[in-house]
Amino acid sequence: MSTITRFAPSPTGRLHVGNIRTALHNWMLARRAGGRFILRIDDTDAERSREEYVAAIKADLAWLGLDWDHEERQSSRLERYQTAFAALQATGRIYPCYESAQELEVKRKIQLGRGLPPIYDRAALKLTETERAAKEAEGIAPHWRFLLDHDEPIAWEDGIRGMQKFDPAQLSDPVIRRADGSWLYMMPSTVDDIDMGVTQVLRGEDHVSNTAVQIQIFTALHAAGFAAASPAANSLPSFAHEALLVGREGKLSKRLGSLGCDAFRERGIEPESIIALLARLGTSQPVEPIADRAALIATFDLASFGRAPAKFDEEDLDRLNAAIVHQLPFDAVKERLPAGMDEAGWHAVRPNLARVDDAAEWWRLVTGPIEPPEFTSEDRAYLAEAARLLAWGDNPWASLTEALKQVSGRKGRALFLPLRQALTGMDHGPDMAELLPLIGEGEARARLARAAA
Ligand code: GLU
Repeated sequence: MSTITRFAPSPTGRLHVGNIRTALHNWMLARRAGGRFILRIDDTDAERSREEYVAAIKADLAWLGLDWDHEERQSSRLERYQTAFAALQATGRIYPCYESAQELEVKRKIQLGRGLPPIYDRAALKLTETERAAKEAEGIAPHWRFLLDHDEPIAWEDGIRGMQKFDPAQLSDPVIRRADGSWLYMMPSTVDDIDMGVTQVLRGEDHVSNTAVQIQIFTALHAAGFAAASPAANSLPSFAHEALLVGREGKLSKRLGSLGCDAFRERGIEPESIIALLARLGTSQPVEPIADRAALIATFDLASFGRAPAKFDEEDLDRLNAAIVHQLPFDAVKERLPAGMDEAGWHAVRPNLARVDDAAEWWRLVTGPIEPPEFTSEDRAYLAEAARLLAWGDNPWASLTEALKQVSGRKGRALFLPLRQALTGMDHGPDMAELLPLIGEGEARARLARAAA
């Protein structure tokens, strides 16, 4: 069976670095296996879901280069959830509840006050037919819970965390449907994973206890004959839960919760840098400036993930970004370069950049105007000599400095610095051997002569 993964964002906000990482890893799992990657929009919460977030999520994934093979929307699958619900109801795995939010809160507080875990007490399950009828006569519409099977221990071999075991009696029967008929996350996600033939569910460890519940929902749906014809009819996907991302200080960080593609773009971070970092962060493999996705995909391995929270540090990202920028080919950046900058120009300035946008600043050294410093009379004489000796050939910088070395006896800094300053107005910058041909013979001679005057 070929690998099918999914990324299932709720369109209630923009993507942040944590869910970008989940998307990336699911994409890599699918690409590595030559399988399929599904984008599933979890938009059952009509009040909080927004079309503009759906568009933004897709735009961000596209910017990152995470292409999806198929898109699904939960809001267009409501009938299917109704069918699953009916199947579970028919097998006695769903029951109506009438407690208000306040009543539930009071129960919770009492349990906590007694030092007990706040597990739902199943009071609604014990209601008689008459009591239920009375609630409904009062105008109370029920919400619905899934009845966990307390006799069936829950266990799975997690792709990252190893063997996981849950005692279902320690979990509350989850509410799967609200009183207004709308769906909560738990059941639709399971129905989708069955219908879409998802073979691997990879998500954050905040979902571990959801997995325990969903394994029982999977099993109950299978037992109810739901989707008996589907290819994955009676098998469960494999599950893996990754440790969460934390900030540099090692704590869950509010900032990470809002750090997304816009902020990265503004900071001059390339998609390839984000991919290179997030592909390896939290694994035993080194984070390296690998701009070639195929290489990252080929080495992606769930077994290399650790269980400790992965530390995300924006300064690491900046460093990685500089190293990635230094490798980017002209074709990948040409639309973002200053007018007139050609491949040779890109190659000359690239090693000096921390971000592609800085190319414009260095390109000004070529196009001018430049502002050279005041030179001593000795340096002026030296630069006048340079203007005379400048000759255009294969490597004008090498021949100029060689000739000047002979006639002036200068070497090192005294030989190079006044030339760099006169030609670029700066004390440091791109390799002069690459820059000089770009400045051009006439302009270079004029700059040297001006500095010598
Ligand atoms: N919409 C859910 C979330 O964003 C999906 C979780 C899952 O991967 O099943 O948390």
